[in-house]
Amino acid sequence: MERQYDCLAVGSGMAGAVAARVLAEQGGKRVLVLERRDHIGGNAYDCLDHAGVLIHRYGPHIFHTNSRRVYDYLSRFTAWRDYQHQVVANIPCQDGRLEYPVPFNLTSLEAAFGPERAVSLADRLLTAYGPERKVTILELRQNPDPEIAALADYVYDHVFVRYTMKQWGQTPEEIDPATTARVPVFLSRDSRYFQDTYQGMPQRGYTPMFQAMLDHPNITLALGQDARTRLELSGGAICLDGAPFTGTVIYTGAVDELFGLCFGRLPYRTLDFSYETHPVDFWQTHGTVNYTVDEAYTRITEFKYLTGQQLPGRTTIVKEYSRAYTGNEGEIPYYAIISPQNNALYEKYRALSGQFPNLHLLGRLAEYKYYNMDAIVLRALELCDGLLKGAHTHV
Ligand code: FAD
Ligand code: UDP
Repeated sequence: MERQYDCLAVGSGMAGAVAARVLAEQGGKRVLVLERRDHIGGNAYDCLDHAGVLIHRYGPHIFHTNSRRVYDYLSRFTAWRDYQHQVVANIPCQDGRLEYPVPFNLTSLEAAFGPERAVSLADRLLTAYGPERKVTILELRQNPDPEIAALADYVYDHVFVRYTMKQWGQTPEEIDPATTARVPVFLSRDSRYFQDTYQGMPQRGYTPMFQAMLDHPNITLALGQDARTRLELSGGAICLDGAPFTGTVIYTGAVDELFGLCFGRLPYRTLDFSYETHPVDFWQTHGTVNYTVDEAYTRITEFKYLTGQQLPGRTTIVKEYSRAYTGNEGEIPYYAIISPQNNALYEKYRALSGQFPNLHLLGRLAEYKYYNMDAIVLRALELCDGLLKGAHTHV
């Protein structure tokens, strides 16, 4: 019997949606997309809330990339609203609360230490590292100059250590150094959170962008379908609905789940989101405010800054609370906890997946990596390049 589909994509987030579109369009493949949620878009999904505010249901997502290829590819499915994200740290102080830019920069230095002291500290920093340099907090703490070391301690105490404890349950020294390196001390007056060449928000939101991407005659989308109920993997062969499936399978979910947790559960952090709608135009000073010293939540994001939605007298914010993922019903694994031990466990699953020549692990969960959206899009495009050039035998 002729098979109905050439390829299967499990998941309709950035990874699954981009791969499905490329295989369907450039490869002429008939692609089935299985998505277990009742909507497309993965964690980038957005929708209107009860107050009519456009919100991100799985935490704030800001698009930024240095990859022209990624930007051009997504631009086929959306126009962009120019948006340069700015974040401030909100810190209790003698006079109430203080706010200054994160990443900690020369403007933050002035706000924290006053103009005079800031000038001398900035001089020392610029002499040591040079202008417009980004220095990780762990690197800054190694500086032998006592004045710079004292400043590094201040930034560590007021920006990093408690936020990191809330987010990861571990100190900045205990987590993967690449994580705090995402938010370095920046010897600049540039107060944007990202310096990437291309930044913005999909003009009408992420969900319409995903709709446009998945809208192709060769793509069949099935929502509310957990692939694990339809797939069987054994002896190097994959069955779909009980019949052998030799086409490409792109799996973008958690790999430990795919193999029934056979080597044990991969550790993740999950988040609880608490949304509040307030009867004001704007509730806070910036798109995101990080609570780097106190409060149980890590940050508050106000969506109207990100989306540019014009909606007087109403605004919705979200507070993020991080905790260990346990696998309980309703929990979502958001952040892989990168460590040598966890990576070794992941490698066991990856090796097992290698026994299935038509199975490809793609995405933030399936690859157990801390990838931004743009990195996922690029990986999807590159995987499909290889598949369509026949570098992989099973397409
Ligand atoms: P996901 O978006 O997780 O999609 C995976 C999909 O697979 C999901 O829809 C899931 O339901 C589905 N799935 C899983 N298992 C199965 C199964 N068995 N059967 C069927 N379907 C299944 N990146 C940025 O670039 N900018 C940001 O500002 C940003 N902010 C973020 C904020 C938060 C709180 C988080 C957690 C992440 C953020 N990211 C951001 C990262 C971004 O979310 C990811 O890079 C991106 O969503 C990864 O896409 P993906 O397709 O790999 O995974
Ligand atoms: N971080 C911090 N304080 C901040 C911002 C970030 O300590 O004000 C650290 C923290 O460990 C965090 C990491 O830097 O997990 C990466 O921050 P980013 O904003 O990139 O995290 P994400 O948006 O991916 O949750």
